[in-house]
Amino acid sequence: MRPFDRREGVPEARRIPRADRLLEVAEAKGFVALLGHPAVMEVVRSTLDLLRAEVLAGGTCPDEGEVEARLEARLAQSVQSSLRRVINATGVVLHTNLGRSPLCEAALSAMREVGEGYTNLEYDLARGERGDRYGHAERALCRLTGAESAVVVNNNAGAVLLALSALSRIPPPRENSAPAPRPTGQPEVVISRGQLVEIGGGFRIPEVLRLSGALLVEVGTTNRTYLRDYEGALTERTAILLSVHRSNFRLTGFTHDAALGELVELGRRKGLWVLDDLGSGTLLDTSPFGLGKEPTVPERVGEGPHLVLFSGDKLLGGPQAGIVVGRREAVEQVKRHPLMRALRVDKATLAALAATLGHYERGEAVRALPIWRAIARTPEELRVRVESWKRSLGEKAQGAEVRQGESAVGGGSLPGVTLPTHVLAFPSGDPDGLSSRLRAGAPPVVARIEEGALVLDPRTVDPAEDEKLLFAVRMALG
Ligand SMILES: *Cc1c(COP(=O)(O)O)cnc(C)c1O
Repeated sequence: MRPFDRREGVPEARRIPRADRLLEVAEAKGFVALLGHPAVMEVVRSTLDLLRAEVLAGGTCPDEGEVEARLEARLAQSVQSSLRRVINATGVVLHTNLGRSPLCEAALSAMREVGEGYTNLEYDLARGERGDRYGHAERALCRLTGAESAVVVNNNAGAVLLALSALSRIPPPRENSAPAPRPTGQPEVVISRGQLVEIGGGFRIPEVLRLSGALLVEVGTTNRTYLRDYEGALTERTAILLSVHRSNFRLTGFTHDAALGELVELGRRKGLWVLDDLGSGTLLDTSPFGLGKEPTVPERVGEGPHLVLFSGDKLLGGPQAGIVVGRREAVEQVKRHPLMRALRVDKATLAALAATLGHYERGEAVRALPIWRAIARTPEELRVRVESWKRSLGEKAQGAEVRQGESAVGGGSLPGVTLPTHVLAFPSGDPDGLSSRLRAGAPPVVARIEEGALVLDPRTVDPAEDEKLLFAVRMALG
């Protein structure tokens, strides 16, 4: 039966306004000029669909004024862009759902600078001819990591896929001789069972490996893998020894991993590529921040694998990118692979990355990069912040408490590691209701719920956002 027929059968449905009537209303209020005709029609139709569903379910049709008010509210929502700035009061420094790393001032102005006009993205100004897009961040990456060569792609998942695809079918050059021909058949990549990681968003190492055309060879056990396990799995088709950082879970207790240096030595003896997917990839030592010891990129590069792969927007604190650093011959192969073109980065990313790296080169990353500033905030400093929040909220924050808490680093970095903080907790009332009012606010505020209380963690709120946060909290408290 057509919906039209059902509508005929429900007298109330005849009161539903026609689409062109609502379009006129939207036009008169200026929404067509703001959003364009197709977007307005989409909202008109969805408003009418909801109304029809209500009426068909036995409801009464609201009067014209009410229908117009509903339409206007929905149109007003569409005027705001879907991707918006939010305040992260969760205390999770690298929150994947909230866009991981915010960018530093220098990165933002560099993006503006190269976005406003034309650039020498692929143009060699000295020679007046085509230049190298990938050269822009390469020197800084080499200086900072100690690698011979570097290239940047869209994200680290792409970097892993690209590196596996580019290297599995050609062997590494041997010292003073040409590479031996690789035997035909499916190349094999050896990896420890304890490192078959799934990163968020369905990125699973075994599946990426399959996609690259290589065969996964798992060695060792979930908790213990020795060098001899790798050695025992080698065949004439073995192409790559892959090490993957356990970015988002911890293996504790009776465990053992072969050291990267051991894999490098084995690879050298047997003519195999050795790749290290480091995931987060920090350039700074994390231990002075109370985060425990993470291997840094320069340390991993120093152990001598052909490539180390890491993200631009995890602990590096820059734009989304996949950074490939390592030995010249390996990076050259990666650059030459056809997938490189599919994964390439744009000028804005390169500009933001170069500006971010500049802070590391000048030794000012902790001061200049938002994520390191967030990590470095002391519990005492955070207590003073939340106490001033509470004072400023006054009456509205009745019952709110300043509590000790723990912030997480998140974003596939430092699993299980937390930083002591202080939070403003709202133990009474309905935490889910308050949370949803905060998310609906302007600006939207994302908080966390802990032991039945909504809590606001200042670690991830820049002090410059305090006034906006407090405004939004006041509105949400009513
Ligand atoms: C995060 C992560 C990736 C994926 O990196 P993206 O930049 O998110 O694409 C791959 N491998 C490891 C070990 C990771 O931690």
